[in-house]
Amino acid sequence: MSIKIPIETSARHVHISKEDFQQLFGPEAELHYIKELSQPGQYLCQERITVCGPRGTFENMAILGPFRNETQIEISLTDSRKLGIPGVIRQSGDIGNTPGCILRSADRQIEIPRGVIVAKRHIHMSPGDAASLQIHDNEEVFVLTKSYGRALIYADVVVRVHPGFRLAMHVDTDEANAFSSDKDPYGVIVRFFDQNYNTHKWIDDVLSGIHR
Ligand SMILES: [Zn+2]
Repeated sequence: MSIKIPIETSARHVHISKEDFQQLFGPEAELHYIKELSQPGQYLCQERITVCGPRGTFENMAILGPFRNETQIEISLTDSRKLGIPGVIRQSGDIGNTPGCILRSADRQIEIPRGVIVAKRHIHMSPGDAASLQIHDNEEVFVLTKSYGRALIYADVVVRVHPGFRLAMHVDTDEANAFSSDKDPYGVIVRFFDQNYNTHKWIDDVLSGIHR
């Protein structure tokens, strides 16, 4: 396997529940497949949706299928400012105590009470990749990005391990723009310390004169 981690950019998008979708598009409505996305089983849909916050609106936002149990809107921190919705960084699926928004189709509108998140940057990998890299599910790692004059080391990158996952790091548009990436950006996992250490402790140590 490769230790080169391809980096893919997730533009703002919506995962929707069947219930919310049918409230917006009609009681018999189904998602219409357009194309497969990088993670097996995930696909872009023909249907588009408008997401509204107190300060702004994004029209024609992409819906990714299949249906989820709960609707989840993934945006960047820049998007959160435009919408006027607080940017809450969460792993996908962890939407307790997150802000809601208004969703609009051509002729209907609903308000969802929660589900707007800024996705925590993450790496999808198979159990085989995880074993080779000696990493476990939910571990947080550093990723050094290949760049042309603006390399970044991303901290707090959570690793998600599942037999159905294909190796890829997902960042949002803000994160992708923060390093000068080319057509096929990639990074490598770098290790600075053991798993029990974290960036908060690292900063505290440096401030108190401890250099590891
Ligand atoms: Zn992802």
